[in-house]
Amino acid sequence: MNANATLRHVRRLACVAILLSAGTAVRAAPPAETYPRAQMAANLQRLAALIDHQISPLKVMVPALIGVHGAITFQRLFGEFFFALDAYPLAEAYLHRAQDLASASGDAGDAARAAISRGRIALITGHYDRAEAMSNDLSRFAAGANLPWAQAKAEEYFGVVARRRGLIEQALVHAERALAMQRQLNQQDEVAWALSNLGTLARDRGDYATALDLHRQSLEIRQRTDDQLELTLRNLALIYRDLGDDTAARGYFANALEVALRHGDSANYAATLGTWAGFLVDAGEFTPALGAAQESLAVSRAIGDRPSVGFDLLNSGRALLGLGRLDEADKQLNDALAVGRELNQHEILAHSQVALAEVALKRNDAVQASRLLDAAFSDPQAARYKPLMSEVNELREKIATTTGNTAQALQFAHAAAALREELLGTRASRRLTALESQYARTAADQQLALATKENQLQAARLTQQQLQRKFGAVLLAAVTVLALLLAWRFLGVRRLNHALAARNTEVETQRAALSQANDRLQQQADELYQAAISDPLTGVSNRGHLMRQLDARITDCRRNGSELAVLLIDFDHFKRINDAHGHLFGDRVLVAGVQTLRQWLEPGDLLGRYGGEEFIAVMSGSNAANAAQVAERLRVRVAETMTGFMPGTNGTVTVSIGIALLSRLPAPVRLESLIEAADKAVYAAKAAGRNRIVVHGA
Ligand code: GH3
Ligand code: MG
Ligand code: MG
Repeated sequence: MNANATLRHVRRLACVAILLSAGTAVRAAPPAETYPRAQMAANLQRLAALIDHQISPLKVMVPALIGVHGAITFQRLFGEFFFALDAYPLAEAYLHRAQDLASASGDAGDAARAAISRGRIALITGHYDRAEAMSNDLSRFAAGANLPWAQAKAEEYFGVVARRRGLIEQALVHAERALAMQRQLNQQDEVAWALSNLGTLARDRGDYATALDLHRQSLEIRQRTDDQLELTLRNLALIYRDLGDDTAARGYFANALEVALRHGDSANYAATLGTWAGFLVDAGEFTPALGAAQESLAVSRAIGDRPSVGFDLLNSGRALLGLGRLDEADKQLNDALAVGRELNQHEILAHSQVALAEVALKRNDAVQASRLLDAAFSDPQAARYKPLMSEVNELREKIATTTGNTAQALQFAHAAAALREELLGTRASRRLTALESQYARTAADQQLALATKENQLQAARLTQQQLQRKFGAVLLAAVTVLALLLAWRFLGVRRLNHALAARNTEVETQRAALSQANDRLQQQADELYQAAISDPLTGVSNRGHLMRQLDARITDCRRNGSELAVLLIDFDHFKRINDAHGHLFGDRVLVAGVQTLRQWLEPGDLLGRYGGEEFIAVMSGSNAANAAQVAERLRVRVAETMTGFMPGTNGTVTVSIGIALLSRLPAPVRLESLIEAADKAVYAAKAAGRNRIVVHGA
């Protein structure tokens, strides 16, 4: 088959599953069931069969397509799926293949998981040999691959199988081991199973206090997990039934049925309803008992729950017996007996034989009745079922009476009475014990609750203290951190301030140095400028500077229309002075002469060296007379000053001064023409005998 065909199959499968799950009741089903639960169980079986048919081609291909691990998963998934649909034979087939595949590929974990489900199915369907085989497989897997959970499950199944076979002591050993192991593993659902099994064994042994305690522990877990809760409630109902507390028993049964209906697990529903039917028979309510037994039977048959079928046939038969429908009762009870034999389930066998004996007795067949009772109680273990034994003794008494054996009748009557008394006493003491255990448990629970509350309080106090301490520590830490931060910041700021101050000082120093440098530069510039514009010997303006100043004065005076006088001052016979006293002396004469000239000029007047021993003074705003007057004064003062200066007694230094006036020259007057005019006037003064002033153009 190719991949497309596979896909077609998967698609068809999905469609069918959706259609069926949407409307199982709509499908034209074979024989319609009276009971909706049984109808649903039957529909689920058909759905499972249909799905199996659709996927069967896949089963062959899966290992080739997705490998052996995929195939294991495939088989296990469908196995669990069919298990969920209560389709036990199909589920078993798939899980069996999964286990074989996993086992062959050395996957002990998967093999054990499949074996666990198969074991549970075998217990439901009454295949106790297979359940035992599964337990052995689980033990093997557990030992091979160190799987404690598999070993715990093996112990549990060993225990259940032993109990069903009536081997109570053996069952107890396994159940106790299972509980210890599951508690170690701490798997709550599994602990609840182990508690339940052990509780049921305790009830079998008449240890009702222990049974109650164990089932209540199981109840505690299952109320939390909501898994298999109906079974524990049913078990508690059974204990109260045995204790003669019918009110409590009815309450637990009602609760169990409600949960079973809600969960919709067919096997659990049948088990709960069937037990309820048994209770109703014991209570003498035969009609509702028959109804419950018949419905339970229909469900058990639909899913193939053989032990349940056995009990349902038994209860149905006993109800019919109660109703006086002996033929129907006989048939049902014989069917129950057959199931009991087939399964080798002790309880079913014994009860159906006793009930059949009752039927026989009702038919006045004392021989048959006696034979059945002998058969039922050939097994010494049967003596343990005391309520049944009491019933049996009453039956034997009736048989003896019927057969006219008065002595034997009396003997059985005594035995029955003794057992009844014992049972009554036992029941009373059991109820007392149960009540005591219940009281002790309640007290212990309250103690525990108190201790828990105290612990919680203590824990709360501790937490509060811890919180306070923590808060304090956090606060302290926060404050410390804050302080450190502040200190760090403060130090940082201080460091920064220091750095800034140092930097400021440095800048200030640099600024001062710069300012000094600037001053120096300025001074040098001034000096340079002075040097550039001055005559180095006398300190007055040099020729260049003098010419620029004079030019500017000419421009000013021409604009203002004011007068400007230029005095050209020439030292007389200076060559002779040099010759007579040396050039250096000549220099000193020039310096002293210029000093006198400057001294007697007005502050706004200009003085500069024109060249050699010739100097020019410029006076703005003075007329010819005024200029002549100043020139005359200069001439006189130089002569006077130089008189004491000269070596010897009568020698002096004189100057000749030529004056040129702006107003006397034809406009526009230029610098050169003014100087030329002054020069001409000096020449005239020289020619006229020196030491005098001449005004040009006068
Ligand atoms: P006059 O009365 O005609 O002006 O006669 P003079 O000798 O003064 O004129 P002349 O032009 O013949 O000579 C000028 C002299 O002045 C010549 C030169 O050696 C001298 N002289 C020029 N400059 C300086 C100077 O800076 N220092 C000295 N010691 N002598 C100078
Ligand atoms: Mg000269
Ligand atoms: Mg001269």
